[in-house]
Amino acid sequence: MKSSICEECLKKNVLCDTCNKKLAARKTSAEEIDVLRFIYKLSEKNASLKDVKIVRVLDQSALLIVTGRGDAAKLVGKGGTIVKLIAKKYKKSIRILEEAPNFNRFVENLLNPADVSGINTLYKDSEEITRIRVPEFQRNRMILTPEDFSQVVSCFFKKKAELVFDV
Ligand SMILES: [Zn+2]
Repeated sequence: MKSSICEECLKKNVLCDTCNKKLAARKTSAEEIDVLRFIYKLSEKNASLKDVKIVRVLDQSALLIVTGRGDAAKLVGKGGTIVKLIAKKYKKSIRILEEAPNFNRFVENLLNPADVSGINTLYKDSEEITRIRVPEFQRNRMILTPEDFSQVVSCFFKKKAELVFDV
């Protein structure tokens, strides 16, 4: 399993110097490490998880797990077995998505099953903001809140983004 922390730190309950520095630099978080260790434990009984790459875990209203390309299905497991174990442990809905080749694709994956009706850039007080629009009638399909969405985008793309609903 590949993740932001090394295999030794996935096994143990302490962090090595390298991983500690990543935590201090906020390249990982205590919540993420907890989830990574839980998935690592699951990988001992689920061979399909052994070569899975986990890019980032964000603990929000839903637990968002971003995997390497082609790895999402492995983390979901057959019939959802693995994702159900994660959901049960953290008592949250789980959103799993793969790294995307570009911003627009990532946003589409992130919002799926809601549709993106438009993405445009605007400037507020000389600050660039990317505005993503979702049809109002699909509001209840959203798994993440608009606030969570903005946080995810800034975490992955260092961009300021806002989500609005199109009436
Ligand atoms: Zn380490």
